[in-house]
Amino acid sequence: MSKSTSLRLASKLIHGGIERTPFGETSDAMFITSGFVYESAEQAERTFTNEEKHYQYSRFGNPTNDALARRLADLEGAEACVTTSTGMSAVMAGILSLIKAGDRVVASRALFGSSYWIIQNYLPSLGIETCLVDGGDEASWANALNQPTAVVLIETPSNPMLDVLDISMIARLSHKAGAKLVVDNVFATPIYQKPITFGADLVVYSCTKHIDGQGRVLGGAILGSEQVLNDHVIPFVRNMGLSLSPFNAWVLLKGLETMTLRVEKMTKNALLCAEFLEKSPFITHVFYPGLKSHPQYELAKKQMSDASTMIALEIKGGKEAAFAFMNALNVILISNNLGDCRSLMTHPATTTHMKVSMEDKQRLGITDGAIRFSVGLEDPQDLIEDLARGLEAVAACSKHT
Ligand SMILES: *Cc1c(COP(=O)(O)O)cnc(C)c1O
Repeated sequence: MSKSTSLRLASKLIHGGIERTPFGETSDAMFITSGFVYESAEQAERTFTNEEKHYQYSRFGNPTNDALARRLADLEGAEACVTTSTGMSAVMAGILSLIKAGDRVVASRALFGSSYWIIQNYLPSLGIETCLVDGGDEASWANALNQPTAVVLIETPSNPMLDVLDISMIARLSHKAGAKLVVDNVFATPIYQKPITFGADLVVYSCTKHIDGQGRVLGGAILGSEQVLNDHVIPFVRNMGLSLSPFNAWVLLKGLETMTLRVEKMTKNALLCAEFLEKSPFITHVFYPGLKSHPQYELAKKQMSDASTMIALEIKGGKEAAFAFMNALNVILISNNLGDCRSLMTHPATTTHMKVSMEDKQRLGITDGAIRFSVGLEDPQDLIEDLARGLEAVAACSKHT
């Protein structure tokens, strides 16, 4: 482990995990190589029998990827970390490395679109029984977990409507059913929520989001105990070929250096925007874990140290009003990405969650007027003026009808 484990968060993000080469470079070196060479056939043999530690092949391990994994483990307070090519390969490995045919998987219904597809479509085709749980009340989770289960997957706050789930309660019920709890912590970020301290077994990230935070590369990570990673997750990632590009790992290392600065400022902006939106008569609901009006405000305060950068809102007047709102914006961009330094808005019902059944959309509150807002680093006054422009367009549109 690196020397930085005793440092505070912002310092860990700068110094965590670095292992300098003999050149003594200041910034992390980038090892763009697919393979590695040996001094002798004997050394190659010793490497393969694990008698000697030596890199073999970048699908198995690469110094830049390892530096990123060490820095992320340091940040999360996890024993071990493995990086992956995308957030979805992290979610996929987090589930598939822990199950076999005939097993059972339970998940919250409020999930990222592709995670929902894995649970709803793909796992049943492999002979895995799956069960989706609505909402956060303890009785529903106890009911879903009243039989042997291998894996439980949750997201909190959830995409796109920002539902907050009680990680400790779900961890306790998961362990009672023999399951490992996997938490997708993208919305909260490792800065504001540490699922392992509440009993999660694995934490997964799309590094594409706040960790890069500048809209450049895709990446993912899985964190947990050394035992679960070494016995299950790492062999799966290496042999199935989910490895991250070392170039992307280097970009993500650079992203981590400024992550607290960015995420803290974006979170400040998010609260200002949420408070502004909440006052509008053209908006029926604003879902932001930092607002007292959020249905799980108290729980969010208990398990998150701040409310993070994502807001969901529901515009009065359905799809027409939501589209008029988005089309009137000049600063906030229309995009389905999130966690970027640029403010981004998406209409989940027609994009990211288009494939979710009508019935599930209703259950999840993904109405035609629902919008997901990833708040960026712009001057908050520019964001508020832009939101006001959007609301004027909604007002004009409601006059016609
Ligand atoms: C983006 C995202 C993912 C998937 O990550 P990719 O890097 O796009 O593969 C998974 N979960 C959540 C909550 C996300 O926002």
